[in-house]
Amino acid sequence: MKDWQDFDIKVISKAKGPWLVDSEGRKYLDGVASMWCNVWGHTRKEIVNAMIDQVKRLQHSTLFGLANEPAILLAQMMVKQAKGMSRVFYSDNGSTAVEVALKMALQYWRNSGKPNKNRFIALQNGYHGDTIGAMSVGYIQNFFANYRKVLFSVHRVPSPYLYRRPNNMSEDDFVNHCIDSMEMILKKNSNVAAVIMESGAQLAGGAIIYPDGYQKEIKKLCEKYGTLLILDEIATGFGRLGSMVEYIKQESMPDIVAFGKMLTAGYLPLAATLSTEEIYNAFLGEFDEYKQLFHGHTFTGNPIGCATAIANLELYKKEKLIESVRRKSKIIRKRLDEIEGYEIVGDVRHKGMLAGIELVNDKKSKRPLRLKKERINYLIMRESLKRGVFLRPLGHIMLLVPPLAIPNKGLDMLLDVAVEIIEYIQKKRGESL
Ligand SMILES: *Cc1c(COP(=O)(O)O)cnc(C)c1O
Repeated sequence: MKDWQDFDIKVISKAKGPWLVDSEGRKYLDGVASMWCNVWGHTRKEIVNAMIDQVKRLQHSTLFGLANEPAILLAQMMVKQAKGMSRVFYSDNGSTAVEVALKMALQYWRNSGKPNKNRFIALQNGYHGDTIGAMSVGYIQNFFANYRKVLFSVHRVPSPYLYRRPNNMSEDDFVNHCIDSMEMILKKNSNVAAVIMESGAQLAGGAIIYPDGYQKEIKKLCEKYGTLLILDEIATGFGRLGSMVEYIKQESMPDIVAFGKMLTAGYLPLAATLSTEEIYNAFLGEFDEYKQLFHGHTFTGNPIGCATAIANLELYKKEKLIESVRRKSKIIRKRLDEIEGYEIVGDVRHKGMLAGIELVNDKKSKRPLRLKKERINYLIMRESLKRGVFLRPLGHIMLLVPPLAIPNKGLDMLLDVAVEIIEYIQKKRGESL
């Protein structure tokens, strides 16, 4: 926080397309999709109009005992695309969507007469949000160390972070090791309520993209040992990795799945936790059995948020966005091949509209890159802003997470600036930095 006092923070006052405009009229390409949630760029006409229409009609009305039209319609649209899911529970942000998923899983087992199933298995490098439950199943040590005393304990298993696997293991061996570690825990513990993991890739943990088949194997383990699978598609669903619903691509249907971030095109806070009919049915009972899910937020199912999400989903179809993501993904891939050659680039990870470039001291030691005088992430932020782009890395890992519909020209600029910064760092390294 102290460092930020000296940082020349830009005040964004308007935006259009992929461009953020600050209070002095300077433009920056939104290279992080405003924290991984922007889909179409800013001020997209169709979505803004849907928001205005809804604002005029109904701003908010509760789902405690009532319903509203946008909330119903959006739920119908979501279960249609999320194969296997049939029910939707709304909340306001990704963290709460995860809390809802955890509570659903715990209570599912209680309602089903198995209250001892009350522990979770979670992955190393996982991230599920910043509330207490979401932190408990997450694992980013430096973020969460201060709160450890109040976090609940979980079974933790390695994630398939291939680049940082032990030296003596092949990639295949390491993936098998990750899967076997989970199976060991499931074999020994009958108390596992659910496995919770991000779907397709771990984003905040460092853009760790799962190897093919890994997630499917985890799903098989959940079935074999009778535990639930909770998938977190908050960052990876809605096309970030090139699929509308990532678990369909991964052939790993969950029991509960959370969506957020891009659900409203990044325009309003809204999230949803979806479940199968089987999970839903376990919450039906006589009133004094107390089988209902004890959870509800003031702004649950907010009509403006839901109307925004509906307009967003309609645009996905109309513009065939997923197909265009796949085309743009190839452009990124090409440019990343060129980036791989730099001495300070240890690993390049890419899928869909997500790229993580892991910077190291040298390729051999794989030691995370450090500079003498400045933190690498500040440097990347500062140098990217100077060049008209906003990049926000994860420590030594440079992240490219543009709005999905970024025009090709913008994409070129983003990649040009990424290359320029890598060259800049490589040149300055050992000099004064
Ligand atoms: C961002 C994120 C969350 C938390 O969502 P918030 O809206 O920030 O609370 C949860 N899980 C994943 C995978 C995320 O990327």
